[in-house]
Amino acid sequence: MSTMRAVVWAGPRQLRLAEVAQPRLVAPDDALLRVRHAATCGTDLHIYRGAVPDFEPGTVIGHEFVGEVAAAGPAVPHLRPGLRVRCSDFVACGQCGACRRGGYAQCLGRRLFGFSGLQPRLDGGMAEFVRVPWAGTALTPLPPDADARAGLLAADVLPTALSALARLQLAPWERLAVVGAGPVGTLTAFLARARGVTPLLLEASPARAARARAVGLSVREVAARMPLSDSAADLLGRFDAAVDAVGGEQGLRSALALLRPGGRAAGVGVQAGPFAVDWGALMQRQISLHFVIGDPIGQRAEIDAALPSCRPVLDAMFPDRLPLAAVPDYFAALERRERFKAVVEIAEEGQ
Ligand SMILES: [Zn+2]
Ligand SMILES: [Zn+2]
Repeated sequence: MSTMRAVVWAGPRQLRLAEVAQPRLVAPDDALLRVRHAATCGTDLHIYRGAVPDFEPGTVIGHEFVGEVAAAGPAVPHLRPGLRVRCSDFVACGQCGACRRGGYAQCLGRRLFGFSGLQPRLDGGMAEFVRVPWAGTALTPLPPDADARAGLLAADVLPTALSALARLQLAPWERLAVVGAGPVGTLTAFLARARGVTPLLLEASPARAARARAVGLSVREVAARMPLSDSAADLLGRFDAAVDAVGGEQGLRSALALLRPGGRAAGVGVQAGPFAVDWGALMQRQISLHFVIGDPIGQRAEIDAALPSCRPVLDAMFPDRLPLAAVPDYFAALERRERFKAVVEIAEEGQ
């Protein structure tokens, strides 16, 4: 049995570089990918902390990765070995009602890479190889000269930012607030500005605020203890639209507090579980609230169109480069908010 190196979850705050069995083709439309680059993501922090119920020890983490086809089943002959590809952060069947309508994020069979517990386990891409089910749907060719970081953004962060903007349908004169200058918030604000909108980012971390300012964005530093109070929101003026790129109660309530009557909010930060919201106040102010999930499959055309405009922020989006062995320690720093996002370079061994 061939083995490979992979970063696996071993328990709360325990990631390990492990030698595990190399995955193999199982279904006729599977592909096996040789991973070249992967990326860390804020979503992985929930897993890292042990916040996902019934998450299985041994699950290989990572849902943002690019590589080359190493092998493919007979149902996906166009995925020839050696083809460079980017991969959706989740797999979808491509055949159910949701998939046929183009809403792959609502596929009944949707599974996120590098995840288990709340879904059947699907090992992720922080590894030398990854098995991609329904590969004809999940994989998109990546030109040989394309920056790997563009392919990594296309897996999750870029479709998430694009889906927030698509849902808000901003006019150029409108004011947009973006809560949180993490990777998703920063890219959302950057793309909004490229479309003529003037966004204001709200961020508690001075380092993250500085990073966003370095790419020309306006940032207001806020107290670490959000949600924003109404009086704090009054000082900023009210916005036509707001994006919550933090998630949880803090992020969502801050975004809602910033809206003018009739304003609209898009929630892209992760929500998990209940908290109190004053629905009466939202109703009286005629607030619209939308939750959006980025869809790297359904939004393929928009992603391809937007990728060139992401080039100026690639360095800011991926300030760190690491080998696979450095991933466990990096997550500890990521949790302390000392780090932002990293490209993980998977060493080429044994070829
Ligand atoms: Zn992600
Ligand atoms: Zn489906």
